[in-house]
Amino acid sequence: MCGIVGLIGEPKAGPKLYPALFALQHRGQDAAGILSYDFERSQFHLEKDLGLVQDIFTEERQNRLKGSMALGHTRYSTIGTVDKEDLQPLFLSYPYGIGMIHNGNVTNYDEVVDDLRKSKQRWTFSRNDLEILLHMTAVGLTSAKEAETLSQKMATAIRELLVKVEGAYSAIGMLADQGMFAFSDSHGIRPLLVGRKKVGDKFSYCFASEKQVFFGLGYEYWRDLQPGELILVDKELNFYSFELSKKEARPCMFEWIYFAGSETEWHGRPVYDVRLNLGRILAEECQKKGLEIDVVAPVPDTSRAAACRLAEVLQKPYREVLIKNRYVQRSFIVNQPELRKMMVNLKLSPVESEIRGKKILLVDDSIVRGTTSARIIRLLRDSGAEKVYLASTCPPIRNPCFYGIDFPEGKSLIAHEKSEAEIEEFLGVDGLVYLPLERLQEGLGLKSFCSACLDGDYPVPVSTESFMKTRNHNIGGDGKSEVPL
Ligand code: SF4
Repeated sequence: MCGIVGLIGEPKAGPKLYPALFALQHRGQDAAGILSYDFERSQFHLEKDLGLVQDIFTEERQNRLKGSMALGHTRYSTIGTVDKEDLQPLFLSYPYGIGMIHNGNVTNYDEVVDDLRKSKQRWTFSRNDLEILLHMTAVGLTSAKEAETLSQKMATAIRELLVKVEGAYSAIGMLADQGMFAFSDSHGIRPLLVGRKKVGDKFSYCFASEKQVFFGLGYEYWRDLQPGELILVDKELNFYSFELSKKEARPCMFEWIYFAGSETEWHGRPVYDVRLNLGRILAEECQKKGLEIDVVAPVPDTSRAAACRLAEVLQKPYREVLIKNRYVQRSFIVNQPELRKMMVNLKLSPVESEIRGKKILLVDDSIVRGTTSARIIRLLRDSGAEKVYLASTCPPIRNPCFYGIDFPEGKSLIAHEKSEAEIEEFLGVDGLVYLPLERLQEGLGLKSFCSACLDGDYPVPVSTESFMKTRNHNIGGDGKSEVPL
């Protein structure tokens, strides 16, 4: 999962993506990058590195990013490594200079790499699946008819790409001396939104994973990119849209549950509103169980809205019993195990005065492996809680996700085989309330979405064995990676 943003028609577009990437930092903290293009000098400028946005883009590096078109990326590794050669943006120089960023996972990586090698004599040099999107675009443009306009050539190239490259991906690209393009897989599993700003009688455009980017840059949110749609904006700011492949929209439900910022929206469903809805449904489920509760408390930060609504419906006080230390980052580097453990402990600190002697209903966005939840529950008990119940706004996660959220192995998921009673025992809670799967549609307010990790209904079929082989090879080891859940 990553954050992506593209901007065209804006002076100093590169440096302007620096604040925009702050708005997408929660989508990836492993690395970040900006690629800009200067139409006057026909030059690309690239700055990317491991780490957080604020640590990478010094003033000097921002000033090097010249031009009125730019791409920005925050990286969370699911395929590929966190080695420098895998960082985005990536680019190629033939048949045009093409730069690109994406958010998602290609699920038939080996097959496409093999095909590129054997039938197109193209080799990949990174372990990032973005590189095959880049090659496929280049191959399509090379084989397009000379007489076609650029937008026709692009439509031909991306139509072919959507057929051959399986998975969940939203991508933004730049063509040297030409303009910017954006496309999404045929089911639109990963988010990409379009914003615009009036410039004379035309618009400058911004593409972003989340809506708050537009607010930060002074753009208005216009619309979502549709599944299988290609948008092209040329250097004169003419706008073209192509419907290249139309399949049922299957947006990832986990964006609303956990991943997206509360202030964004997608498919007309504001994330905050959905989280309030999930809280109401959980309150009704708690009432059915007849739990005795003194206070309702969120696990910060994602579940705050749901916990608020849940407390309102149950007419119980809402309290913050855990405080998140915003200065302890996920990517912190501490070599001594003892210090590292202390840092992990500091990420969430208990407010003992609000915990001691209370029956607490803790609300979390999801329970993935269960180890973090178990640790938090132990923390509340050690701080004197009389009872601890846990409510999850996500139904039980039983299956792997192959589309860009890092829970790919079924056996590591606590709900994969365990019953609710067994999960309760593992977590050490006095009661457990999951949002029922059959009420998720009501909570999201959508008819169709991806919920494969809950019910096994995968919009794009995947061979688990070959996916895991590719993933473990690309990670370069045993497939273990740090997971923020
Ligand atoms: S499997 Fe789950 S996490 Fe993955 S895209 Fe589908 S809903 Fe989202």
